[in-house]
Amino acid sequence: MNKELESILALSSVKRGKCWRERLTDKELGKVIDEALAHPDITSAAVVLYLKQRGVAIGQNVVSRHRRGNCACNR
Ligand SMILES: [Zn+2]
Repeated sequence: MNKELESILALSSVKRGKCWRERLTDKELGKVIDEALAHPDITSAAVVLYLKQRGVAIGQNVVSRHRRGNCACNR
């Protein structure tokens, strides 16, 4: 399996284990995402679209959950 596909697959199983944010192995992308999530004018839908354009398939509900701190990584 291609490496990119493996990281997307890892992001698919957000229900158990690590959260999608922790699974973002690209440090530059992770930094951008953290800043975007902390920005009051940036919507979760926009973050989802941004990730989609970079080949990361993630649902808006899990992005919102992480943003609210109601997420696997916050337990
Ligand atoms: Zn999280």
